[in-house]
Amino acid sequence: MKIAFIGLGNMGGGMAANLVKAGHEVRAFDLADAALTAAREKGCATFAAASEACKGVDAVVSMLPNGGIVKAVYADSVFGHAPAGAVLIDCSTIDVATAREVAALAETEGYAMVDAPVSGGIAAADAGTLTFMVGGSANAFRRAEEVLACMGKAVIHAGDAGNGQAAKICNNMLLGIHMIGTAEAFAMAQKLGLDPQTFFDISSVSSGQCWSMTSYCPVPGVGPKTPADNDYQGGFATALMLKDLKLAMEAAATAGMAPRIGAKAAELYEAFDAAGNGTRDFSAIITDY
Ligand code: NAD
Repeated sequence: MKIAFIGLGNMGGGMAANLVKAGHEVRAFDLADAALTAAREKGCATFAAASEACKGVDAVVSMLPNGGIVKAVYADSVFGHAPAGAVLIDCSTIDVATAREVAALAETEGYAMVDAPVSGGIAAADAGTLTFMVGGSANAFRRAEEVLACMGKAVIHAGDAGNGQAAKICNNMLLGIHMIGTAEAFAMAQKLGLDPQTFFDISSVSSGQCWSMTSYCPVPGVGPKTPADNDYQGGFATALMLKDLKLAMEAAATAGMAPRIGAKAAELYEAFDAAGNGTRDFSAIITDY
C-alpha cells in the first residue's frame, strides 16, 4: 500500500518505520526537519507539505500533538488531496468532540475515517506492539485494521467515531488513579514500618493488586524493571498523563458526568507537573509523599 504518514515525532517515527518494515511505501511529512531526516533514514520518502505526501495514497495515518492541529491538518492538507478511496486514520490522542467533528467532515468529503489512539509508549511504538482503540464504522475499521496491525499487537473496535478516544481517556483516567493509589499505599506501608518488597509480595497477590503495582511499580528495585529503576526517566511523561486527564475532564463535562477521583487525580498531576516534573515518568508521583 501507499501510506501517507503525518507527524513523525517520538511515537510516529517508530510507527512509520514499522509500516516500511511491513513492505508499505510510506510518504512522510512533519514540520520538523530532524523528524524528516530520521524518517528518511528509516526508509520513508519525505515531502515538503502534507498535501503532497497524501497524493495517490491508499491510507493516511497521523500522529499529532492535539485536536486543533489534527483538525487543521485534515481540513487544509488531507481532504481533497488524498484520493477519495483512501482510509484516514488519526492515531493522536485528542478530545472526543474534535475527533467526532473531524470524522463527520471526512464523511462529508467522502472518506472513511477512524480515530485510533494508542496504549503503549515510545518503546511499544518502536517495537510495533501498540494497542489501538478504534472508533468508526465497521467498514472504516476493517480497512484501517490492515494498516494498524503492522504497528501493534492488538486492534480493537470500540464503536462509532470518537469511541476510540473515549476508550483511551477512560483507560488513562483509571491508570492515573491507580498509579496515585499504588504510590500512596507504598508510601503509607513504609511509614508504618513495612519493607516495600514485603508489601509488594503481599499486595501483588491480594486484593490491592493492579497494573501500577505488578507491571509498573513506582518503587525502585521492587517488581519488574520500570522507569522507577532509571530515576523515573523514559516511560510515560507526567505532562502526557496530565494531558490525558485534562481530556478526560473535558469529555466528562460534555457528557454531564462529574468524576470525583478522576478530578482529584487531574489536580494532583497538575500540581506535580507545575512543580517541574513534567518530563519525569508519571510513576514519580510517589516521590511527592
Ligand atoms: P511529539 O511531539 O514527539 O511528536 C509530534 C510530531 O508532530 C512532532 O514531530 C511535530 O513536529 C509534528 N507536528 C506538529 N504539528 C504538525 C503539523 N501541523 N504538521 C505535521 N507535523 C506536525 O509527540 P509524541 O510523543 O509522538 O505524541 C504524538 C501523539 O501520541 C500525541 O497525541 C500523544 O498524546 C500521543 N501519545 C504519546 C505517547 C508517548 O508516550 N509519547 C503515548 C501514547 C499516545
